[in-house]
Amino acid sequence: MGECRCGICNEDEEDSTHMFLKCKMVRWLWKACAKWWGINVTLQEECWNTFQNFERELKEASLRDGWDCIWNALVWTVWLARNQKIFQGKKIDAGKLFELIQMRSFFWVKSKNDRYAFNLVNWIMNPVACLRECYSKRRAPIN
Ligand SMILES: [Zn+2]
Repeated sequence: MGECRCGICNEDEEDSTHMFLKCKMVRWLWKACAKWWGINVTLQEECWNTFQNFERELKEASLRDGWDCIWNALVWTVWLARNQKIFQGKKIDAGKLFELIQMRSFFWVKSKNDRYAFNLVNWIMNPVACLRECYSKRRAPIN
């Protein structure tokens, strides 16, 4: 019957695996985030496996923490965009969603680390360097 089509692409049945992993636009977002972080992972058939794959790529705790923010920002951003498309007829622009993910994750990482001294441009240019720097300060004794 097809009444539960994906609210984003309208090409496939909408379930959580499709919406947060398999949807064409969402795959593009995952790849864009991985490229932004300089990590190389293969997207799996299921969300959990994909999550574990990313975690394996990120061996440092500081990076895993930061990546958790990306994961949350991506899922949240996709969910909001899907709802805005369905309920308000708003068009989805993958490039804009990627920028939103970068911005949201920046504010989340910043709020989790009180010593975070970087601005949004630093974060967009090199999130890995920002996190490493931030965590090295965290471990240093307070003067
Ligand atoms: Zn879709």
